[in-house]
Amino acid sequence: MQIYNTLTRSKQEFIPLHAPHVGMYVCGPTVYGDAHLGHARPAITFDLLYRYLTHLGYKVRYVRNITDVGHLEHDADEGEDKIQKKARLEQLEPMEVVQYYLNRYHRDMEALNVLPPSIEPHASGHIIEQIEFIKKILAAGYAYESEGSVYFDVEKYARDFHYGKLSGRNIEELYAETRELDGQQEKRHSFDFALWKKASPEHIMHWPSPWSEGFPGWHLECSTMGTKYLGEQFDIHGGGMDLMFPHHEAEIAQSCAALGHDTVKYWMHNNMITIAGKKMGKSYGNFITLEQFFTGQHPLLSKPFTPMTIRFFILMAHYRSTVDFSSEALEAAEKGLARLTEAYTRLMKLQPAATSTVDVKGLRERCEEAMADDLNSPIVISHLFDSARAVNTVFDGKATLSQADLTELQQVWKLFVEDILGLRMNAGEAASGTQEAYKGAVDLLLNMRLDAKREKNWGLSDKIRNELTALGFNIKDTKDGFEWSL
Ligand code: ZN
Repeated sequence: MQIYNTLTRSKQEFIPLHAPHVGMYVCGPTVYGDAHLGHARPAITFDLLYRYLTHLGYKVRYVRNITDVGHLEHDADEGEDKIQKKARLEQLEPMEVVQYYLNRYHRDMEALNVLPPSIEPHASGHIIEQIEFIKKILAAGYAYESEGSVYFDVEKYARDFHYGKLSGRNIEELYAETRELDGQQEKRHSFDFALWKKASPEHIMHWPSPWSEGFPGWHLECSTMGTKYLGEQFDIHGGGMDLMFPHHEAEIAQSCAALGHDTVKYWMHNNMITIAGKKMGKSYGNFITLEQFFTGQHPLLSKPFTPMTIRFFILMAHYRSTVDFSSEALEAAEKGLARLTEAYTRLMKLQPAATSTVDVKGLRERCEEAMADDLNSPIVISHLFDSARAVNTVFDGKATLSQADLTELQQVWKLFVEDILGLRMNAGEAASGTQEAYKGAVDLLLNMRLDAKREKNWGLSDKIRNELTALGFNIKDTKDGFEWSL
């Protein structure tokens, strides 16, 4: 398959370093708040890649880290630690904040049918390894100690290596963009970044090190944990485009400085989601959490949307395209997903005939081809919609399918819709609080109807059945009680 490598700015044939094993690292969340649409996109993009690589027969070790220390408010080396700030405001232990939001993140990912990674390492669980990594960078001469902190020497590194090769930035630009320091600062240049920060007295998350009681810089954890679990050279590193600079550029620099060579063969970045053309963020007032999507509790939302609608909405765009969110766009995705689900349900119930009178050949090959072309999920979806038309023709009795064609079609749909796109087709079973509540309410009404029948209250029993039927429910009495569907 071909994947777009951000490093070479071209599509390249994917050739794993150690087939059938594939090492894949994706930058995970900083867990100090609920996950939002911006978290759903990388999670779903790299879930799609993980599922597809697994389908191709690779044994994927998928590492997705959890940032629970060192991510300061301004992404640079200034401001309070994001988790510590939340802990201070909520009067909690920082690790209580981490656990609380991590549990909620996992719940949201499960709802979106994002498979769990093979390893989910925490930055705070790898302090010793990060200290050892800093020692290597210091020994190689690309870092310096200052007032108990250790900084990466970008200028010196840029003389020996290509700093900026991922993001396209160069050191001249950095000189021009950043204010010069007045000599009172710990850093030599403002673009140098912290590998280790000495903790101020009010800083509560700190560990001993050779330089000070302190904490690691944010970029360091990914160099350290990536190489710890995937080796000094591994296949794929992914993340959102917003992480390209400075985070991933710093990661390349740290790894090259410590080890003398690149660690990552293919860098992959998903594009961003905008809301009405604007970047999403708390300060823009357009920040919608996944839970708010699932419950509909946000002024920008016309109604609740299921996790599968969110997943489908994201997969309808290629991962390198921007996606602009609006309630109308989500409603369109919801309609599309309903059409696909209807065809899927019909297909699984179709009866074979002696011969096929509709041509359904080649779907598998077309879908494989689209996936192998840099994960082109929108093209896969359009092939499935074409196929849905044929399925509906057979369902309406205007065409027939032979046993062989029907079996093939059912297998291809199951493979691409459920296993690769990861769309749960038993929508009524989806782990959404709204849907659970809705199912519970219908069950409750039908149990009340059973009680009414037992009491020979035929008026009430008929009323419940007739009114639910008028709302579109199919109700069937069985010997144990009832069955219903919408
Ligand atoms: Zn990272």
